[in-house]
Amino acid sequence: MKIKILHLYPDLLNLYGDRGNIECMRKRLMWRGIDAEVVTYTCEDSGFDLSDVDIVFIGGGSDREQKIVCHRLLEHKDEIRNYVEDNGVLVAVCGGYQLLGDYYQTDEGRMEGLHLVKLHTEQKPGRLISNIVLKSDLFDMPVVGFENHGGRTDIGDNQPFGKVLYGSGNDGESGYEGIVYKHVIGTYLHGPLLPKNPQVCDWLIEKALERKYGEEIKLQPLDDQEEKEANAYIVNRFVK
Ligand code: GLN
Repeated sequence: MKIKILHLYPDLLNLYGDRGNIECMRKRLMWRGIDAEVVTYTCEDSGFDLSDVDIVFIGGGSDREQKIVCHRLLEHKDEIRNYVEDNGVLVAVCGGYQLLGDYYQTDEGRMEGLHLVKLHTEQKPGRLISNIVLKSDLFDMPVVGFENHGGRTDIGDNQPFGKVLYGSGNDGESGYEGIVYKHVIGTYLHGPLLPKNPQVCDWLIEKALERKYGEEIKLQPLDDQEEKEANAYIVNRFVK
């Protein structure tokens, strides 16, 4: 078995070392004897082919970088939409997450999004910066991470990624964080999202394998003792 991972625009969307998430997917595949091929498209690349891609990763960035990336992404809007509607796995973090929706309105102007999911983001005064803990219906373990965003995201009736147990989440008010749409996860959780949350990583891998090989996949469990202890430490530290 083999999985192809595409890292989109790591030259610009790379806050907090979001790239570590790619390494995490690669390792967890490798430890199970599954081949992983990682390809990257930077803003300089002209080609764009999702036909044999199994997982797409888009990281986070400042408003300035997001604006540059937004134009590139819009050039490939139809390919990305077809991929998502065909159950392609996509994980988008913070700036990348905001660009999945209809728009991101900042004080400087409006960035048009990919319109993949019915959501929109507006910048408001003050940044939401904090550790964050979620309870997601998709996983037994709480999801832990770190958020830093000026945008507030309204996800309408979409399924959130999780309920906020600590931190701000989508807008600091709704009590929810991120979205799940088909096999897309959009989230404000930055940096080592997947190393900190192995169940999230395995969900992405499982969905990608099922889509590619057309059968239900039960991934071989790995020894996640250290990850579980680190996760529990954060939950105990912030959730009373
Ligand atoms: N520029 C966006 C915001 O501030 C996203 C930031 C990020 O990716 N950390 O809301």
